Amino acid sequence: MTRLNGKTALVTGAAGGIGKETALLLAREGATVIVADVQDALGADVATEIEKNGGQGIYLSLDVTDEAAWTRVITTIEEKYGRLDVLVNNAGISDRDVLENTTLETYHKVIAVTQTSVFLGMKAAAALLKASGTGSVINISSIFGASGGFGSSPAYHAAKGAVRLLTKNVALEWAPLGVRVNSVHPGFIATPMMGDTDTTPLVDVTPLGRLGRPEEVAAAILFLAGDEASFVTGSELYVDGGYLAR
Ligand code: NAD
Repeated sequence: MTRLNGKTALVTGAAGGIGKETALLLAREGATVIVADVQDALGADVATEIEKNGGQGIYLSLDVTDEAAWTRVITTIEEKYGRLDVLVNNAGISDRDVLENTTLETYHKVIAVTQTSVFLGMKAAAALLKASGTGSVINISSIFGASGGFGSSPAYHAAKGAVRLLTKNVALEWAPLGVRVNSVHPGFIATPMMGDTDTTPLVDVTPLGRLGRPEEVAAAILFLAGDEASFVTGSELYVDGGYLAR
């Protein structure tokens, strides 16, 4: 597979779930993939799996809330590969409670990991993405970036809503520079993030009648990453089994 031949891609939160499947898929399509996460052992395993599959991948430790860490990672990518064509801002965490029971500390933490990280990532990678000629940023939002969901997880909804509009804002600035910026909005996907959540009510509100698989989100990210999506920017792509069609 060669849809991303010659491209270099950075995927955050790539030690598991959607990020891992995305890293594996982009590598299968020919990209050199930088697997970034705070779970170092699991992240290194993903890079090893990429190499075992005949692809090219390395693991770099990156706390996406840390601006200095972003600078170090981007500098390493520039020195090692000389380019960055695809940035997938995937790392994210959720709060679970209702607003009155959410502490300010939790609110700030979810915003930092899920929202501010996207700002930091695009800022750190801007110069390399502009130099790429076919730069593509995919920011992972959520169905909860465009709806109030079940009335819980206020920080997560605030963060994902912000990611949706930050994407469009930067897409406009970077369009004349040849860098595309889009958001992907998963519905309920079977990943470690689900934890011990009872998924029955989630399946019940999903028209396709099941949870999504991480590789189904990865496929949407691949489309936006590659040149087949060369006229797509500022858009939002829902991979939600029909949830938001209701
Ligand atoms: P996950 O918990 O399986 O994976 C998230 C990854 O992010 C983990 O590997 C974790 O170590 C990493 N991470 C957490 N904090 C980090 C930090 N500070 N720096 C770097 N990495 C960090 O979750 P997932 O379900 O694969 O979610 C991936 C993305 O998709 C998230 O942005 C999530 O909000 C979004 N999403 C998921 C669902 C779903 O149903 N699973 C639905 C909509 C959106």
